[in-house]
Amino acid sequence: MNADIADTKEKHFNGRGVGVGVGIGKSVVIDIESAEVEPNSISEKDVETHKKKFSKANKGLTEELELLAKELTDKSTREIIEAQLQIIQDPEIEKSVSAIIEEKLLTVEYAIYSTYCKFIERLKESGSELFKQRIVDLEDIRDRLIAIVCNHTHKHPVKKGDVVVAKDISPTELVAFYEKGMAGLVMEKGGPTSHAAIIAKSLGLPCVVSVKKATKNIDAGEQLILDSESGMLICHPDKETLKSYRKKQKDRLKLSARKCREVFETKDGHPYQLLANIEFEAELPKVAEHGARGIGLLRTESLLFGSRIRKGQEDQEVFYSHILEGTEGPVTIRLFDVGGDKTTTRASKEDNPFLGWRGIRLLLDEKQLLQNQLKAILKVSGKYPGRIKVLVPMVSVMDEVDSIKKELEEAREAVTSEGYAVDEGIQLGLMVEVPSVAISARKFAREVDFLSIGTNDLTQYTMAVDRGNERISALFQHYHPSVLQLIKTTQEGATEEGADLSVCGELAGDPVGVAFLIGAGISDLSMLPHSIPEIADLLSSFTKKEFEAFAESALNSSSDKQVKELFEKSFCQK
Ligand code: PEP
Ligand code: MG
Repeated sequence: MNADIADTKEKHFNGRGVGVGVGIGKSVVIDIESAEVEPNSISEKDVETHKKKFSKANKGLTEELELLAKELTDKSTREIIEAQLQIIQDPEIEKSVSAIIEEKLLTVEYAIYSTYCKFIERLKESGSELFKQRIVDLEDIRDRLIAIVCNHTHKHPVKKGDVVVAKDISPTELVAFYEKGMAGLVMEKGGPTSHAAIIAKSLGLPCVVSVKKATKNIDAGEQLILDSESGMLICHPDKETLKSYRKKQKDRLKLSARKCREVFETKDGHPYQLLANIEFEAELPKVAEHGARGIGLLRTESLLFGSRIRKGQEDQEVFYSHILEGTEGPVTIRLFDVGGDKTTTRASKEDNPFLGWRGIRLLLDEKQLLQNQLKAILKVSGKYPGRIKVLVPMVSVMDEVDSIKKELEEAREAVTSEGYAVDEGIQLGLMVEVPSVAISARKFAREVDFLSIGTNDLTQYTMAVDRGNERISALFQHYHPSVLQLIKTTQEGATEEGADLSVCGELAGDPVGVAFLIGAGISDLSMLPHSIPEIADLLSSFTKKEFEAFAESALNSSSDKQVKELFEKSFCQK
């Protein structure tokens, strides 16, 4: 569009709203066409270098996608990412790239380009609707791999308050733009479950996806409004529209500001704590904005894979210190929960990864990894006394508890002998994710300072449902009375032993789940920061007694469906 003859009348575009709130700002358009790659020659002595470049790029992208898949609670998104992972790991692709480099003596970028184009052509020829989505995936992977081997990253002058309009952007770019203060994201590609959309939501960014030809129809520097609720994108809003959306934006901000100042109490004055689940430093502003009283779950796996690998002890210290500095209240650092769905090259392929070498099982075999993490945490703890808690994932037997205590002592001695001050009162806790721990919660609670229920895995292991398997996803029922009963058993065990208890799985950010948890006597809940206002609203609208009555009936229900119906009846029709 030519700026001189630009049509400045208000224009509306429809997409799908996936983020949070209303974004208003000037557009920055990222429109990178996938360029054709020329078949340039290389000499024989460069063959190995080019092959290595390919393996490195493939590995980097694999880890980035694995990290994303791990973060996704949404099953269909996981499926998309997993499909991309399958493509990347396809041995036929690797064979073809290597052959082009080795036999035809052509550059790695061309080898990637022609290999992927060949596969894309095959899919196109098949004419199958089902394969169409695959084509987009292949193009996306092709372009990303070429960008990595050529060291091309999108360098765009995104400033505070800009709305980024792109075909698609990588998670790393999204986090980088977010850190610069972007006001929103508009994408042509992606559905509500695309990885960029999921991350935008977690960061609390306004985001509209699936806006056709957005990068063609919108010029740089145009004023935009995007509404995450309706999925509407408005270009050149007129005065009235702008005024009404500014009001909508302000109302939302006021709402979260009001929530931040409020004490967290039920209608009849029973206190509870709402904390945040986070993984990246970029999420810190949202923690404060939504009034979380601390971090109930700091996932640390992203230190091990993805594009920001920081597994060295010093790098970890920097990361933990930033999180501590950027928050108030407790910070529960979960030890690396690698394995299961959170795969890395470290975890080998297993027939049943969810029942395999993950969490504490892996850490106790990988002593250096564990000791490094414990030492980094302990070194930081001295500077923030009383704030750090250490949480152990995937515990299933008592031996693991004994071992982790010994490991913690060993790390403490090492760090102290290096002259560091260590928080003597640092608390040790266990994730309750495996039914064996929930059933014997009392015995486990006796051994540690606190328990934290991971309802995602507890549901998976109780219902015998792979949490990532779309085919049986209807059986992933985290309100199922059996899951609720295990939670209640855990609460009773922790109470008897005087151990603190919190919940950090998805159930803790879900209204039905929260109503049950509060009613069952669990008042420390950790969730995605943006869930806090809605949960605080629910909890302040009813009395503890009402939640207790609901919890009791829920425990006596015979199905997940019945629990939902009971919730509707108890809290939605009043
Ligand atoms: C859980 O299992 O509920 C949990 C919080 O851990 P993750 O989702 O990271 O496995
Ligand atoms: Mg878990």
